[in-house]
Amino acid sequence: MKVRQPIVTVLGHVDSGKTSLLDKIRGTGVQGREAGGITQHIGASFLPREIIKKRCGPLYGKISGSDVQVPGVLVIDTPGHEVFTNLRARGGSAADIAILVVDVNRGFQPQTSESLRVLQARKVPFVVALNKVDQIPGWRKSDAPFITGAIEIQDASIRADLEQKIYDVVGTLSVLGYSSEAFYNVKDFAKEVAIVPMSARSGVGIPELLAVLVGLTQQYLSARLEQGSKESRGIVLEVNDEVGIGPSANMILIDGELGMNDTILVAKRDGVVSTKPKAILLPKPLDEMRDPRDKFRPVERVEAAAGIKVASPDLGGVLPGSAVYITSDAAEVGRLKKEMEAEMKSVFIETETD
Ligand code: GDP
Repeated sequence: MKVRQPIVTVLGHVDSGKTSLLDKIRGTGVQGREAGGITQHIGASFLPREIIKKRCGPLYGKISGSDVQVPGVLVIDTPGHEVFTNLRARGGSAADIAILVVDVNRGFQPQTSESLRVLQARKVPFVVALNKVDQIPGWRKSDAPFITGAIEIQDASIRADLEQKIYDVVGTLSVLGYSSEAFYNVKDFAKEVAIVPMSARSGVGIPELLAVLVGLTQQYLSARLEQGSKESRGIVLEVNDEVGIGPSANMILIDGELGMNDTILVAKRDGVVSTKPKAILLPKPLDEMRDPRDKFRPVERVEAAAGIKVASPDLGGVLPGSAVYITSDAAEVGRLKKEMEAEMKSVFIETETD
């Protein structure tokens, strides 16, 4: 059975380090070719399994559920994209899994709790990234793996301090109904939220964070990610009108695939419209981009999960957040349209009474 990559979002309080974490994961700003192998999508970055394997090192072999083998992870680039996480796709959130970033020295802050409410409402599993451990006074820098190296070289008082900070988070989460543990003490990742101490600056803990994400996904999300009989669908992030492209919608393809001959259905203020893509666009790899105006390359077909730009004159006025339904069967368009209209109506009524 084919399994797609999970869609990962990063949430948390302003200044907790979401952008820095994304940058570090993507390898932007990192010397030379370390970013190689990571492909840019529209609004997202794809980390193939091989790259994650390399970053995790020996830790990768310890990931359970490795018989499932997800092809990688698709990380949504815009940090704090509560909107995306909160978007109602069939079966909960459009995001499959989330990283909740908490500043280790500040603990839970107002937007941390807000993000958590979104995750709770949409039933999105998450990992806590306890960021900025390098800022704990007296912390010694180390690039070693967390448990076997980076934590061992710290003074006893620093270790005690970190333990205390972890248990503060455990305490806060338990009040909110979650049981949680430092990742190295978690026995059942389906029942306990893993807390990974890390630093987006030094990079310590990031392999562990990726390993926990992949492990969680492989063990508990495989049914959600299986592609066998899933209908093709997505969600609109933004709508633009660009010179040389015309009206276009940036969307995340969540399940299935989209080809140039398919019909897509999206919502506008006054109802559902159907159209065929005039172009399906992906960002050009950086080294092929000679002219910055020439940012995209057209493709014939794309498979989920992916971040794409779809151009079509009919896409002007599409609502950001709209669901995207896709079919290759013209006879299905009517049925999908009805389904989508019914869904819109129910969402509308629900927001009205919120
Ligand atoms: P965001 O608002 O959550 O996206 O946070 P940013 O990624 O912009 O980070 C806010 C500030 O914290 C910036 O000045 C970062 O350089 C800094 N920062 C982020 N992560 C770390 C970290 O792990 N260690 C240290 N020392 N600083 C960090």
